[in-house]
Amino acid sequence: EPMRMIEFRRMPYDKKQILLVVRDVTQWLRLEQMRRDFVANVSHELRTPLTVVQGYIEMLQDPQSMPPEMWQKAQSMMLEQTHRMDSLVSQLLTLSKIEANDRPDTSHEIDVPGLLSTIAEEAKTLAEERNLSIQLFVESGLMMKGDLMQMRSAFSNLIFNAVHYTPDGGHIKIHWQRCATGAEFAVRDDGDGIAAEHLARLTERFYRVDRARSRKTGGSGLGLAIVKHALSHHQSSLNIESELTFGSTFSFIIPTSLIYIK
Ligand code: ADP
Repeated sequence: EPMRMIEFRRMPYDKKQILLVVRDVTQWLRLEQMRRDFVANVSHELRTPLTVVQGYIEMLQDPQSMPPEMWQKAQSMMLEQTHRMDSLVSQLLTLSKIEANDRPDTSHEIDVPGLLSTIAEEAKTLAEERNLSIQLFVESGLMMKGDLMQMRSAFSNLIFNAVHYTPDGGHIKIHWQRCATGAEFAVRDDGDGIAAEHLARLTERFYRVDRARSRKTGGSGLGLAIVKHALSHHQSSLNIESELTFGSTFSFIIPTSLIYIK
């Protein structure tokens, strides 16, 4: 049981009595702390690429400080950093949209097999450069009701994570099939895996196992937080199994009430 914070306040009531107000502010303080951490994290994440871009612009302003053959490199570095900021901002917007919408309309019919093959195609372009294989095992006609934007974010973040965190030459398998309680989605990779002590915190915003690696892949640290929220709106939750050096499986079950066959 965590420590509780209690606020006592004595209020004058009338001449003979006082009113004592006792309030448990534990939850309020916790939320306040989370909000402060969040703002600090966002600022830090944006400042790093901004500093790099600023540095190059200053160097380019003074042509003597940089030989012309370096200009090309400076430009591509700046572009890379602006892409990073752009992807962080779009992930932030996605997360805040999903969080704000606590009762999303889950009545839309989502063609999951179609959606998965589109995402897998997008991922393959990236995977081919690194000799990664992506295989789809999908039950055709297995559809779900839900919010398309949210489910697309969930599938896409998990599939792209598998691509980003699996070393060259690895294998990724994507499953979508009926199970006893609904339909199960799973993405397995044979990458480096994640040590047990990190698993519980992985869906926290900005939590990363390896900061440098996540940066290199353009990661914002928000992907799994988005997945967690999107799934909670579809009566589902993320399951992570991982073993160091053997790889990871990220999976979830969409309940029967949201599943239909076409
Ligand atoms: P990021 O933008 O850094 O990828 P995520 O929230 O999507 O942020 O993931 C959080 C962290 O979880 C990643 O930084 C990475 O350390 C770890 N992770 C996610 N997916 C995988 C995976 N398939 N294999 C190994 N590590 C993973």
